[in-house]
Amino acid sequence: MTEQIHTDTLIIGAGSAGCVLANRLSKNPDQQVVLVEAGGKDSWHWIHIPVGYLYTMGNPKTDWCYKTTPQPGLNGRSLAYPRGRVLGGCSSINGMIYMRGQEADYESWGNDWSWKDVLPYYKRSENYHRGSDAYHSDEGELLVQEQRLKWDILETFKQVCEDSGFTDRPDFNQGDNSGVGYFEVNQRKGVRFSSARAFLHPIMHRPNLKVLTKTLSEQLIFDGERCIGMDGTHRGKLISIRANRVILAAGAIGSPALLERSGIGSENVLKPLGIKLKADLPGVGENLQDHLQVRLQYRLEHGDTLNQRANSWIGRIKMGLQYAYNQSGPLSMAPSQLGAFFKSDDAVDRADLEFHIQPMSADKLGTELHPFPGMTASVCQLRPKSRGNTHISGTKASDAPTIDPRYLSDAYDREVVCKAIEKTRTLMDHPLLDEFTPTEHKPGRTQKTSEDLIQAAGEVATTIFHPVGTAKMGPDSDPMAVVSDKLKVHGVSNLYIADASIMPTITSGNTHAPAVMIAERLAEWLDH
Ligand SMILES: Cc1cc2nc3c(=O)[nH]c(=O)nc-3n(C[C@H](O)[C@H](O)[C@H](O)COP(=O)(O)OP(=O)(O)OC[C@H]3O[C@@H](n4cnc5c(N)ncnc54)[C@H](O)[C@@H]3O)c2cc1C
Repeated sequence: MTEQIHTDTLIIGAGSAGCVLANRLSKNPDQQVVLVEAGGKDSWHWIHIPVGYLYTMGNPKTDWCYKTTPQPGLNGRSLAYPRGRVLGGCSSINGMIYMRGQEADYESWGNDWSWKDVLPYYKRSENYHRGSDAYHSDEGELLVQEQRLKWDILETFKQVCEDSGFTDRPDFNQGDNSGVGYFEVNQRKGVRFSSARAFLHPIMHRPNLKVLTKTLSEQLIFDGERCIGMDGTHRGKLISIRANRVILAAGAIGSPALLERSGIGSENVLKPLGIKLKADLPGVGENLQDHLQVRLQYRLEHGDTLNQRANSWIGRIKMGLQYAYNQSGPLSMAPSQLGAFFKSDDAVDRADLEFHIQPMSADKLGTELHPFPGMTASVCQLRPKSRGNTHISGTKASDAPTIDPRYLSDAYDREVVCKAIEKTRTLMDHPLLDEFTPTEHKPGRTQKTSEDLIQAAGEVATTIFHPVGTAKMGPDSDPMAVVSDKLKVHGVSNLYIADASIMPTITSGNTHAPAVMIAERLAEWLDH
């Protein structure tokens, strides 16, 4: 028998954005809200201990475990493409960095989406450790705190950056993030503070809010052009939810997939799968943008890094005790602690590269750390020109979508990646680092020409997990736009999207805080 539920508002996806929407829209006790999430509850301890991303990524308990198609720009490699599948979504498995991007990012987003327009919504959800000022608030739910440990190698790299002309930037979130500083993170005293922890757990008791985990939305249901709910499964049994309004917050891969399964997309994609077209929106699943990180790994002859601590029993016991005693030490560590934003070339108008510097090294993210002291200087291009796509491969939610980011397919991005590697090497050659005696372990210094460097990037580059743009916001007149600047899906009624998929262009930084901000905006518009 099919379980039937009627509600005022249905939110699909309890990730970074979905948890905010559930919080704000269920504030009114007269409004019934149902939040559905394909994954389970976020009760597993490794979700909350920061270093647990090593266990949650690639684990079907918490990750959709997607893969990209083979990427010609990455020497034909196919990448693991983690997406959170649990309460909190990606914010339960991510690197916890709180980053809004740059003021100029928002200039092209649309009406009422300038930096001046979005800043109050960033502040609304924020609880900032230094208190309120023109850029921050300490009255919101989402804790933004400092990290709880320092490493000599990172401190020295910071000095190298400053000595090379980078501004010391203790706060990356004032609209100009150029410079070097320690990332601020979504943690509460050394414990991960996901969107679920911030926005959902404190309100689970509300009688007008129903949170359904292990509930997979198969497709949206329409009455004519009006979206009236979804059909799917709840713990393996059929469920049908009818609602006065429906909000997709299933993320940059999940939201376009659900639209396509429901007949909203391009005929070229839907027809071969036998799906009848309900709304012709060829932009669904297109415009995929992501940050590609080139991970330059360094072997150090001297110095303390996580490699030695994690590779010895005594080191591991010490780390465990440190965390148990006061939630500090390496177990409280966000994967990347030190950040720097800089220009690939003087001719560029603003910082277009971001460093994530880590006091550890491994051949691949999430695999065993090297047996020698090591550090990683990961550098990513912030505003790539390459555009990819993601589309369904079958009619069921269990059919994994194809994900083709088309990394480095644009010649400009290949130019920037070469400059990024060269700049990293120049900084690593700085005499201040001599005391650690770094040598480039991977890709290795053998490459010199542009062709070599592109080949090298193809060997070591990987996603930094920021897919956006696959249901982009734009006016009716833009045939590739999927939602209006008030986040309503074009061509149908009663259906909205609020998550990372609506970004027309990627922000110059990490993408969790922008997804939270986007949700804040839609919640306010729907509330009034
Ligand atoms: C490993 C990793 C590290 C990252 N590090 C950082 C970082 O340090 N800082 C930062 O700012 N950003 C980081 N990001 C990116 C950031 O976390 C995401 O951009 C952001 O969380 C996206 O939010 P969202 O609401 O769009 O989607 P999500 O958080 O992905 O939420 C979507 C939710 O919808 C659910 N869902 C999908 N389809 C369905 C369906 N059919 N039925 C029901 N439920 C469904 C999913 O299970 C998920 O819970 C990282 C991401 C990853 C994966």
